[in-house]
Amino acid sequence: MVHLFADSERAFIEKLQCGDAKGFELRNWANTFRCKPQYYLAPETECEVVELVRIAVRHGLTLKPVGAGYSPSDLACTDSVLLNMDKMNRILAHDAYACTLTVEAGVRLHQLNAMLEQRGMALSSLGSISEQSIAGAISTATHSTGMAFGDMSSAITHLVIIDGTGRRRECSATVDPDLFNAARCSIGALGIITQVTIQCEPAFKLHAVQTPDTLDNVLNTLDEVVFSAEHVRFWWFPYTDSVTVWRANRTTLPKQPRAKSYWIDRVIGYHYFQLRLLKSRVTPNDLPGINQEQFAARFDRRIESVDDSYKVFNFDCLFSHHVNEWAVPWEKATDVFRQLQSWIIAEEKKPDGVRVQFPVQARFVKESDVWLSPTYGQTVCYIAIIMYRPYGRAVPYKKYWRVYEDIMRTQGGRPHWAKAHKMYHYDLKSSYPKFDDFMRLRSECDPNGVFVNDYIRRHILPPSEPLLASTTVSQSLTCEKPRL
Ligand SMILES: Cc1cc2nc3c(=O)[nH]c(=O)nc-3n(C[C@H](O)[C@H](O)[C@H](O)COP(=O)(O)OP(=O)(O)OC[C@H]3O[C@@H](n4cnc5c(N)ncnc54)[C@H](O)[C@@H]3O)c2cc1C
Repeated sequence: MVHLFADSERAFIEKLQCGDAKGFELRNWANTFRCKPQYYLAPETECEVVELVRIAVRHGLTLKPVGAGYSPSDLACTDSVLLNMDKMNRILAHDAYACTLTVEAGVRLHQLNAMLEQRGMALSSLGSISEQSIAGAISTATHSTGMAFGDMSSAITHLVIIDGTGRRRECSATVDPDLFNAARCSIGALGIITQVTIQCEPAFKLHAVQTPDTLDNVLNTLDEVVFSAEHVRFWWFPYTDSVTVWRANRTTLPKQPRAKSYWIDRVIGYHYFQLRLLKSRVTPNDLPGINQEQFAARFDRRIESVDDSYKVFNFDCLFSHHVNEWAVPWEKATDVFRQLQSWIIAEEKKPDGVRVQFPVQARFVKESDVWLSPTYGQTVCYIAIIMYRPYGRAVPYKKYWRVYEDIMRTQGGRPHWAKAHKMYHYDLKSSYPKFDDFMRLRSECDPNGVFVNDYIRRHILPPSEPLLASTTVSQSLTCEKPRL
């Protein structure tokens, strides 16, 4: 479609064009979703974002900001205007007393870790990787593990968002608290987040100890296990009773980084593993054996390290995979594992039954007041299942996903927003007490549907929602320049 831009608009768009925009294709990290936007632009300032929203409204375009493009779904996809937020990655303010850092929202977490380290601070909790942008991470309630630690959305104390009328809106617990509670996890539906202030803590080291155990033992004593360290997660290896439990605590011990073994970590844990999975595409009955041998080679021993917090939280996620992850009230975790285990055992008895890969991962996250966070009003256990795609090849996963999602639903589960799932408007309405309030705010923030993409249309909007019913553009514009 050709858009009749005014000359000034065209010049503005050309100035923001990102790389070789013609034919640019966005692929997510796992290369499981892709899209070809009509325009691929990289704004550098809030004013430019405001102007882009206004142009989009005038011309009936939609906008989608993308962070690192790590979401394992089409959440960041659009065929209209894609905004690369990488240039909005500056530090805006540092409050040493409050232990907060204010940054532009395109900052990647690895950049943030370095910025914080230079100032003697750290994020209290961090997930498996640090590639995401801070806006992408909070937009999906990205989380780590720890019964006393919330997700990344709940670490935000103030944010700025440009809504779908081009209005710059600030919010915090005391300024526009409804917008604050909605915007901290808003899956890109309310506007473009341009700044966030993050509550951090003084830099710390973590002492991590990983030990083998049995699933029975862990589930039978789950209420002790989850409180046995500040941060606890465990991986179960289907077709075995084996688990590996990872526990980490703040420490003043001297650093002792994890000893890496090229043979175990790279040869067995990456290349051999990938080759075995490739073969299992034609011989799925190999999968139980693969799970057993990987546990024996890599996890059936005590592994210990002391290092800077972010280095200990992060780990190698290997290669492309499908992943599904839902949160259930943490007391329900045992039931979920038992049901999943029974189904996997029953399938194993069938010659052509479903065979699954490891791990099934459990992480624990403290409740929050963020309206659309899966932790809203409940401390949860996130349970993730995974199917690796060896050398990017297809693997069967849909039946496993269906059974898993049915179990999670019956246990009151809520899906991780970044991951492909099958919860829709009416399911979400009954699962999230504040969903209607979120939808009311969405109508106010985005009356023109500027931020609607297929994901938002499919999962968030009611099936009958009309789009682009009117064109409302804010006339008030305040330009904030980066301060530091
Ligand atoms: C290998 C791997 C490991 C992972 N580990 C974890 C983990 O440990 N814990 C966990 O919870 N999740 C994890 N995830 C999921 C990941 O944290 C989320 O998908 C996160 O959203 C990715 O951040 P991103 O910057 O790539 O966002 P994108 O995927 O680029 O975007 C996600 C959403 O945020 C929106 N968005 C981006 N920038 C803005 C902005 N400025 N304003 C408004 N909206 C915006 C996008 O439009 C989109 O809707 C992992 C994913 C992978 C691939």
